[in-house]
This record gives sequence, C-alpha cells and structure tokens, in this order.
Amino acid sequence: MKFCSQCGARLVVKIPAGEDRERFVCEACGTIHYQNPKIIAGCLPLWQDKILLCRRAIEPRLGLWTLPAGFMELGETLEEAAIRETWEEAGAKVGGLKLYTVFSLPHVDQIHLFFRAELISARLAPGPESLEAKLFAQSEIPWQDLAFSTIRRTLEWFLADQKAQRFEVKVEHLPPSQPRTR
Ligand SMILES: [Zn+2]
Repeated sequence: MKFCSQCGARLVVKIPAGEDRERFVCEACGTIHYQNPKIIAGCLPLWQDKILLCRRAIEPRLGLWTLPAGFMELGETLEEAAIRETWEEAGAKVGGLKLYTVFSLPHVDQIHLFFRAELISARLAPGPESLEAKLFAQSEIPWQDLAFSTIRRTLEWFLADQKAQRFEVKVEHLPPSQPRTR
C-alpha cells in the first residue's frame, strides 16, 4: 500500500499512538489503514459418496485439483460465499451446508473454512477458473495432485470421519507446507 485511499497522500509505516504494531498511516488526513486476514470459504460437495473436485485453470497451482473455494466477497455470509464459489468453479448447486474444517494460515494471513455439502444434482459445468470438475470415489482421489494443504487436510479428515460416521468440526493451525516433490 503506497497511497491513502481517502485523500491520495503518500502513506507512512508507523506505530499509531496507543497501538502495539506498525500500520499504514496517512499523516495528511489521519486515516489508519488496517490490514487483516482474508477469508477463503469452500465446500466439500458430495454426491452418493463421491466427492466433487475441480482442476484449476488459473495460477497458483494451475492444473492441480481443489475443492471449490475462494475469497469471500463483501456483503455475503460464509455459506453464501461457499455456495457461490461452488457454482462459479464447478457449475454445481449445493445445499445442506455443515461447517467442517477451519484452518488458520498466519504465514499467508488467511483463514480457510470448508463446509460439508450435498450436491443437488450431478450436473457439473466447470467455469472459467476450472479445467474440469469431476466426482471422485474415495479410492480415486488424486492425492499427488492436490492444490493446497487445506484441501488435503479436509479430505484426510473426511475419509477418517466417514469410517467412524462422526463429523465434528476441526480447527487447525497449518504451517507453511513443504515444497512439492514429484
Ligand atoms: Zn489520507
């Protein structure tokens, strides 16, 4: 951030009075520009025991598989964000959302949340951000080609919980993932 979005003056980085960390501060108009983590919401959509995954058509992790998920927009609820992302990336309608995994990723200043969800039909129509959208049986999950650590963890939890038929909400702190070796 270089310039004040309120008045256009150049910003300085300093600790405002009464605070304990550096912020972008506009000394012309006095605005403090706070920066906070971003929220990524997604679904683990199910159709008769099969899991919907999308293959990414965009960077980062182009060509790898992901659960449908993306940045929340202003003015929407968490559930609306997860439903919208599933529609945009897979052309799939989901219902019956139940919060399932919550990940803190402080190294990238993000929170990722996934809902278990039911596909309303098996009709899929991948959007421009996806190369394909496909239903996977548990034995077919492309573990070597998953895009993000939070996708892997959510799928790992789900397969374990499926066996036990208990789906409690998981809250985890995920450190940076190791570089992929293939
Ligand atoms: Zn300003």
